[in-house]
Amino acid sequence: MEAPNFLKQIVEKDLESKKYAKVITRFPPEPNGYLHIGHAKSICLNFGLANDFGGQCHLRFDDTNPETEDVEYVESIQADVKWLGFDWNKNLFYASDYFQQIYEWAVDLIKKDKAYVCSLDESELREYRGNFTTPGKDSPHRNRTVTENLDLFERMKNGEFAEGEHVLRAKIDMKSPNMNMRDPLLYRIRKVHHHKTGNQWCIYPMYDFAHPLSDAIEKITHSICTLEFQDHRPFYDWCIENCSVPAQPKQYEFARLNMTFLVMSKRKLLQLVKENLVMGWDDPRMPTISGIRRRGYMPEAMHEFAKRIGVAKAESLIDFEILEACVRDDLDQRSIRAMAVLRPIKVVISNLPEGHKEELEASAHPKKVELGKRKLFFTKEIFIDESDFKENPESDFFRLSLGKEVRLRNAYVIRCDEVKKDSTGKVTELICTYLPETKAGKPTADGRKIKGIIHWVSATECINAEVRLYGRLFSVADPENTPDGKDFKQNLNQNSLTVISNAKLEPSMTVANHENRYQFERVGYFCLDSKDSKPEKLVFNMTVDLATGH
Ligand code: ATP
Ligand code: MG
Repeated sequence: MEAPNFLKQIVEKDLESKKYAKVITRFPPEPNGYLHIGHAKSICLNFGLANDFGGQCHLRFDDTNPETEDVEYVESIQADVKWLGFDWNKNLFYASDYFQQIYEWAVDLIKKDKAYVCSLDESELREYRGNFTTPGKDSPHRNRTVTENLDLFERMKNGEFAEGEHVLRAKIDMKSPNMNMRDPLLYRIRKVHHHKTGNQWCIYPMYDFAHPLSDAIEKITHSICTLEFQDHRPFYDWCIENCSVPAQPKQYEFARLNMTFLVMSKRKLLQLVKENLVMGWDDPRMPTISGIRRRGYMPEAMHEFAKRIGVAKAESLIDFEILEACVRDDLDQRSIRAMAVLRPIKVVISNLPEGHKEELEASAHPKKVELGKRKLFFTKEIFIDESDFKENPESDFFRLSLGKEVRLRNAYVIRCDEVKKDSTGKVTELICTYLPETKAGKPTADGRKIKGIIHWVSATECINAEVRLYGRLFSVADPENTPDGKDFKQNLNQNSLTVISNAKLEPSMTVANHENRYQFERVGYFCLDSKDSKPEKLVFNMTVDLATGH
């Protein structure tokens, strides 16, 4: 199911009309945090267009804000793009690689009297800029001579001034209805270490200036960004027109991905990490790519998700369930089946001798024979899940209850004869009889119908594991919408993590590995936790539950 993608049509037309011989796109993250699912949409779009049309997609770090950027982020971003299955080949770039060229273009603009050094301070700059209803006012420094500007800019570069003392601005139009055209800043002084250029520069180009020029240097054909940059496009075009760049890239905007029950902003995700509200950027509840990877999502599910949601111009809010549906479809295909009892209650089969151990077989996947078989052991003591027994059930409860029968998946039908309880009345043990003729799905002797099938594991032939269940990170669909000005963090779901430290798993799970995905039958999809699982103590993450209705 593929939704429309208007950018694909534009690229197709541009190639058909021979406007370009080859499409060149780029994914331009700022290395100031870990990538999230929204970025995944942009990655699939940019790399996808290049792949579909025999072009190339660059990975370019937009590293123009040295204060917030870090190599940790540079590395995680590369790992995330690779995990999604995309390859930038040799085309790994940094805006900081172009600082010298961008500087020279800025000097050219000054020479053409299209840029000037302004010495208003931050609050004056804001005041002079006006707002949507009030036009801006010309800076008192707007008419500095070219010579004076060249001298000041050179001295800014040489570190002679303090931060904020001067900025370089484009000379466009302070009365423009578009605020972005009111003599936007081109350069500011920042005396900080840059993750790539060290202390070589103390002036840094603004994103809006560096971005179109970087695109032009790399001869990007379609510079794709999110809708909030629509009003920045005239300035993008101004930069391309007024600097002697080697190519004329065009900017196109699409609607960013917003999803229910999530926040999708690196700045906000950083707060959750810094304030220890999650276990880190790769917490399986986080909407980061490293989070969903640890949670067990596969890249193929993300590709399918990108296809299903499409690319449009109108803002929309995508239901988190659409992503989960893609994840389930993908995992259903690849997951090895197993039985796991998360909240065990002991069942003693009274008509089996002590030490009885019968080997049973089950398929690893209901459709994929090539995935082979698993061995189960039917023993005198087994575990079933607490929730599969009710002493006094409603009429529509078809699992185990006193005096009733249920089928144990891949094994036999059992009947519950007696319920043992502790002094508080809590059920501690069920005494049951098994029906030998009902092995592996066979009917009862009189052919009576057994409606319920439940999962189980042998109490003596099982392994213990920790299982982590995850709920939504936020408890409301639109966590950023806090009308009373409350912090979005107050919408965090306090019950988003449940740790089950003593789950019982069938013995085939001894060989569970990090590459495979598992379906714990009747429970959900699981994977080993990449950080905390150890051979001596397996730790599983629930990737997603089974679709509702199971
Ligand atoms: P954030 O607000 O989360 O920090 P950003 O846009 O500032 O995101 P960048 O590193 O600048 O993050 O983004 C890199 C690319 O990813 C940009 O082209 C941006 O448009 C795109 N992108 C960011 N968020 C989304 C989103 N939610 N949906 C689609 N694309 C996105
Ligand atoms: Mg940004």
